Amino acid sequence: MVESIDGVLDKLSLRLIDMIESSDNSTVEIQAIKKELESYTEKSTVNFKIAHKKLFTIAVALEENTQLLSRDLKGHSADVDALSKKVKKLEEELKEIKKESKEDFLTKLYNKRALDEFMELKEAEYQRYERNFAVIMFDLDHFKDVNDTFGHEAGDAVLSAFAKILKKEARSVDIVGRFGGEEFLALLSDTDTKGGAIFARKVLKHVEKSRFMYNGDRIEITASAGVSERAKHIALKATINSADEYLYIAKKNGRNRVEYKK
Ligand code: GH3
Ligand code: MG
Ligand code: MG
Repeated sequence: MVESIDGVLDKLSLRLIDMIESSDNSTVEIQAIKKELESYTEKSTVNFKIAHKKLFTIAVALEENTQLLSRDLKGHSADVDALSKKVKKLEEELKEIKKESKEDFLTKLYNKRALDEFMELKEAEYQRYERNFAVIMFDLDHFKDVNDTFGHEAGDAVLSAFAKILKKEARSVDIVGRFGGEEFLALLSDTDTKGGAIFARKVLKHVEKSRFMYNGDRIEITASAGVSERAKHIALKATINSADEYLYIAKKNGRNRVEYKK
């Protein structure tokens, strides 16, 4: 009997140590009991009545401690619930904001969504007032090589630098944005193909003479452009397709150049 109580005391002692170490709420009383228990289990002879009393005290202390812990846990789980609800709500809000966003996160220019909206607006102006506009599609030359040679981060830095040049060369009324990847688009009101080509050449010259530096490396950058104007086409879609088609021709004809239907 005494031996088995000894065993129980050992187990309880270990359990108490565990609890005290893992809980910030360990009470002074429990620590005192633990100390007593340690000295007690060291003694080989055990008085059964004292052992019984001690065990009872320990059982009560454990019960109290467990209750405290579970109350604590319940309190925390309410906190966790409230926080996870908040996170969910914020995630949904972020999704909405992203959906409404018109800014490209990397270059801070207009993104594809905004460009689509502006094109619709220009189209409406064309339909109502016959207000012509030029569409210029830019694409960086051999941009894959930039990523492959200098890394994706360097590629990102080049995209941002190109965006700055585009913004700088554009007038405040011009619309410039990132159409996707390494493709950019400009919409110039009251401008024909020739005017659009002049703008495109200015941008390409600026890009060519710029020194793109990244971590001490000089990166040579050029771009190509295709230009079209609304008045020369039956629909907005055909106007965009034409700019795209002539961009492809600019690539085929050697890059770092502007092409359009003459
Ligand atoms: P081309 O002169 O014919 O236009 O050749 P290219 O290499 O520029 O064209 P390609 O379409 O083969 O490759 C486009 C590259 O642009 C591949 C893609 O990884 C990279 N790219 C697209 N978006 C991003 C971006 O946001 N950041 C970076 N770093 N790279 C991008
Ligand atoms: Mg491309
Ligand atoms: Mg390219």
